[in-house]
Amino acid sequence: MSQDRSRDMSQGRTNVPVGGSQAPATQTISGSKGLEFAEPLIFEMSENGRTGVDLPDVSVGDERLGGMRRKDAVGLPGLSEPQVVRHYTRLSQKNYGIDSGFYPLGSCTMKHNPRVNEKAARMKGLGDLHPMQPVSSVQGALELIDTLAHWIKTLCGMPAVAMSPAAGAHGELCGMMAIKAAIEDRGEADTRTRVLVPESAHGTNPATAAACGFSVDSIPGDDRGRVDLEAFKAKLGDDVAGIMLTNPNTCGLFENDVIDIADAIHEAGGYFYCDGANFNAIVGRVRPGDLGIDCMHLNLHKTFSTPHGGGGPGAGPVVLSEALAPFAPVPYVVHDTNGYRLVEHQADSDAKPFGRLKGYHGQMGVFIRSLTFMLSHGADGLLQASTDAVLNANYLRAQLQDVMSVSFGGMCMHEVLFDDHFLKDTGVTTLDFAKAMIDEGFHPMTMYFPLVVHGALLMEPTESESKQTLDLYIQTLRGLNDRAQAGDADFFKEAPRLTPRRRLDETAAARKPVLRWTEPVEQAEAAE
Ligand SMILES: *Cc1c(COP(=O)(O)O)cnc(C)c1O
Repeated sequence: MSQDRSRDMSQGRTNVPVGGSQAPATQTISGSKGLEFAEPLIFEMSENGRTGVDLPDVSVGDERLGGMRRKDAVGLPGLSEPQVVRHYTRLSQKNYGIDSGFYPLGSCTMKHNPRVNEKAARMKGLGDLHPMQPVSSVQGALELIDTLAHWIKTLCGMPAVAMSPAAGAHGELCGMMAIKAAIEDRGEADTRTRVLVPESAHGTNPATAAACGFSVDSIPGDDRGRVDLEAFKAKLGDDVAGIMLTNPNTCGLFENDVIDIADAIHEAGGYFYCDGANFNAIVGRVRPGDLGIDCMHLNLHKTFSTPHGGGGPGAGPVVLSEALAPFAPVPYVVHDTNGYRLVEHQADSDAKPFGRLKGYHGQMGVFIRSLTFMLSHGADGLLQASTDAVLNANYLRAQLQDVMSVSFGGMCMHEVLFDDHFLKDTGVTTLDFAKAMIDEGFHPMTMYFPLVVHGALLMEPTESESKQTLDLYIQTLRGLNDRAQAGDADFFKEAPRLTPRRRLDETAAARKPVLRWTEPVEQAEAAE
């Protein structure tokens, strides 16, 4: 985060205006606004010697510590119990999450996380598992991984799945390493070095291909927002290792030519990697295995709920075709007459695993939640969920397309893509528009992605939003658009007004994060 020390509340000091020159009318003496509290860092509130508990004096002789006794104060924050309770409660309220409001972040599938998932994950025997436990004591956990693997294979129509990848991008790495191992096995490692990636791909796709040592060759899209089939075919050759295609793609559209693409890549001797992060749109309706896919990762933390964001936790199992299944990484679960066991080492495998991808066996907490989601929905419920996700996205499209510019015509899948054409000549950018949504209590949609349209606004409502929520969202966006068209660009440039921090320099925050605490400016001045 870029530093903004304008509100140091620990001393109840008068504050300089929040966000610089445009002080909002709601500025207060304390820095808190109504029920939104300004909260300092815990050690800024700390006072030496204050504690929430009385501890007995301990005198441990130096001789028992080998001269290693600490010479300085321990440096832990000194707070009373109510201060600690308030501090963490207030921090928890600063987090905007799916539990606090609508989160239409396209490509991310921020859906409701059913509480029954949490109940299952905390069950005794699951919540307190340790990955180093003897296999004989975790038969139920291994059965759970195996059962989840079974349902994943069933939903995908694929013969094998690698369960250990820890997220979508990690799944991509797993899939591309399996492809690389298969190519090496065919003795073509030196010649098959090129991977085709559509220009609408998620950034992780080309990054993964490059990390695996392949060169990345971009395929253009057509004016329907899909892969240009002829351009793709023209790029095929015996140096092609495979294609990485997202389906439904990042424009929220189904790649109608997917079977032709699969046939063509196979004919050229390559493999078909599918980015399955958007499986939420098709689960229960289409089996990727029937489309000719060789491997595909699922984001369990998207399609099958489980909390996600901020880099984890997640799980990215990879389904594999007959051709790639032998190269799946260790460890994997097998079931025989003696029960469940783990194949942990390449040498113990009958197949040709490419190696190990991570410590232990996968993200157990996410597995439990995902399986609970599947079993509580049932096959009919999963189909209903994907159908409703598509319906909700098309509802947004239908209700907004007369005022906002839809990038590609026709029905969309689970997300709808707009570009900034509708803001032309208003002086308002996609970023400004998104910032104004924050003041309205909505998390913005995904902005400026995918890159194939100008100023993208990608919205994914998911199946778990009610019509009331969507209607309020629609009404809000229409109202903001009216304001933009009326020439009120300044209103947008100043947004957000109602947040604890206003416009942050997000690029600088990401590129040059300030991770070291420094004395708040006012305190330094007071000391002089
Ligand atoms: C989310 C996503 C990924 C990456 O998944 P992570 O779990 O965040 O690593 C890859 N591709 C697409 C299309 C995605 O939406």
